[in-house]
Amino acid sequence: MLLKESYMDKGIADADAMIVVSHFKGHGSGVYGGSIKNVAIGCGSKRGKIDVHLCLHQTVGWNSWIFNGDNCLGEECPDHVLCDNMCPVGAMKIKKDNTEWDGDAYICCFGHQRPLFRCDLWGREKYEDWRNWFLVAMGDAATATSGTWAWRTSAT
Ligand code: SF4
Repeated sequence: MLLKESYMDKGIADADAMIVVSHFKGHGSGVYGGSIKNVAIGCGSKRGKIDVHLCLHQTVGWNSWIFNGDNCLGEECPDHVLCDNMCPVGAMKIKKDNTEWDGDAYICCFGHQRPLFRCDLWGREKYEDWRNWFLVAMGDAATATSGTWAWRTSAT
């Protein structure tokens, strides 16, 4: 267990019933999550989703990963406009021959995953760690949501 709390979407928390229809779908980090992913991510509020993705986790959260802005080709790259517009709050800025990253502005949207995989802007040292704990966090959130529903059912 990793998460100590879980945040559900209010509409789901207030619903009278829930049917989980799992389908086969791959995910870059969650692999085949099935009903666990459906419930953990699908039933989470925005804050719940941020928590499950461990965006701000002190040890494995993305904001603690090593940033290698010099791996970016900068304005010479044919995709630099795309990358420069990727972050809705401007946390990632493409410069003449590198990228700058403002971790304090980071809002956990994960849009900057693309330059991680393509250009190694973020060090991969913590990636596997994050990936493993992300799976644990999904299980935690799914357990919390299921437990809430079980409690509601038994309390009525
Ligand atoms: S991060 Fe990669 S894809 Fe984006 S502008 Fe830099 S070199 Fe190009």
